[in-house]
Amino acid sequence: MPELPEVETIRRDLNPELAGRVVTGVAIQQADIVLPPDDATSFGQRLEGRRILGVGRRAKYLLFHLEGGSVLQVQLRMTGRFALGRTEPDPVEFRHIAARLRLDDGRTLFYDDVRRLGGLRLLESREWERQEAGLGPEPLEPGYRAVDLERALATTRAPVKNALMDQRRVAGVGNIYASEALFRAGVDPRRPGRDLDRADLKRLHRAVRQVLREALRDAGTSFRNYRAVNGRSGSFQTSLRVYGRQGEPCRRCGSPIERIVQAGRSTFYCPSCQH
Ligand SMILES: [Zn+2]
Repeated sequence: MPELPEVETIRRDLNPELAGRVVTGVAIQQADIVLPPDDATSFGQRLEGRRILGVGRRAKYLLFHLEGGSVLQVQLRMTGRFALGRTEPDPVEFRHIAARLRLDDGRTLFYDDVRRLGGLRLLESREWERQEAGLGPEPLEPGYRAVDLERALATTRAPVKNALMDQRRVAGVGNIYASEALFRAGVDPRRPGRDLDRADLKRLHRAVRQVLREALRDAGTSFRNYRAVNGRSGSFQTSLRVYGRQGEPCRRCGSPIERIVQAGRSTFYCPSCQH
């Protein structure tokens, strides 16, 4: 599932191409890609003729800001990907095109999603603001401090790994970067959030920001399905220290990396380096 670095990479690819463009036509091939309140027909009617002012991101949402104030929200989930061009994209990479948005410069934005767990949602600005109010702070913002993380974890008995993935506490962190940040901070993923002391929180705050920044620099982690625009791969998978490395030696101490399941998701950690 794309996390902050992957969604931000896609945003950076799309924004200069789409800012100022008008959507002149909408073709939905898979109706279930359109999320409520619209169906495929009303979605097309509402979107056609609208100008895209810019492409933003909040947490793991990609946001197409439209003239008039509404927002096209894209949830990429596992397998969503974009292509942009005057002709149909490579049919090997893009076999499950679910939506086509024609633009006024003659190009088309293709949205491909084999599993269709994500989708496209058109929201009025007020609806989006209401939703956004429930999201935690952006960890790469310059004003994000250790005390913000401390506040987010101070009262929770939930394991710190699960708390880090809770979008109400910190925005944009998912399974891969939660495991990686906890390894770098030397914190056991099973510890209750509220049991972390100030030194743990400082290390974890630094680790979260560091791992997200490094992954963003590498255009994200193309572990299984994620691709940036037009099939471009990220390269942070070669820098992962614990994620997906079950049984392999820890890069710091040589102990085998272990895998456990927390809240239905795999967690990878080093039992010697993380306390
Ligand atoms: Zn280790």
